[in-house]
Amino acid sequence: MELVCLDLEGVLVPEIWIEFAERTGIDALRATTRDIPDYDVLMKQRLSLLDEHGLRIDDIQAVIADMGPLEGAREFIDWLRERFQVVILSDTFYEFSAPLMQQLAWPTLLCHRLITDSEGRVVDYKLRQPDPKRASVKAFHSLNYRIIASGDSYNDTTMLEEADAGILFRAPDNVIEEFPQYPSVTSYDDLRTEICKASERDITP
Ligand SMILES: [Mg+2]
Repeated sequence: MELVCLDLEGVLVPEIWIEFAERTGIDALRATTRDIPDYDVLMKQRLSLLDEHGLRIDDIQAVIADMGPLEGAREFIDWLRERFQVVILSDTFYEFSAPLMQQLAWPTLLCHRLITDSEGRVVDYKLRQPDPKRASVKAFHSLNYRIIASGDSYNDTTMLEEADAGILFRAPDNVIEEFPQYPSVTSYDDLRTEICKASERDITP
C-alpha cells in the first residue's frame, strides 16, 4: 500500500506568512526562522503583530481566502487523489489554511493549531508534536504504508529522509545542492512523472 505525503506551502499554496505580509502591508510579518531562529520567539512576535493591527481570525482568514492555491495545484491534487492516498503534512495552522484547503477540496491535513479567545483574537498556538513530518511518516510506516514524499524546503528534509522515496519541488538552490539524493522538479507535470516513477505500481502520469 502506498501513500503520498505532500508539503503544503510552496507546493500547493503560497508561503502563507509572506503572502499575508504583502497583502496586509505589515512588513514585520515577513520575518521567518532565517531572521529569528527561535520559532517560539518568532511566533509570539507574529501573534502580537496581528493583535497590534487589530486583525482577528476572521480578518486573517479573509485575506488568506483571497490568496488562492498555486496555479495548477487543484488539478494536480485532484489527479493525485484519484490514484494515491494523499496526506498533507504541514507546519501551518488549521485556522490559517482552512480557506485554502477548501479551494483544494479538503484533502487530509496534519498540522498545528491556533488558539483564539471568544472575540477571535489569536492568543497562542499549539504545535502537534516535535519533528511532526518525520513522526508522521514513521507512524504511516508502522501501518505498513510505503511513503512517497514531496516538499520544497528544509523543514521537509526529515520527511523526505524517512520516506521510501523523496522528491524536491521548487526547492531553493541551496536545498537542491545539499540534498542531491532527491530528484528535483519545478512543474506539476514533472512531479506527476516522478511520483509515478517512485510508485511500485504501474501508473501513467
Ligand atoms: Mg514548504
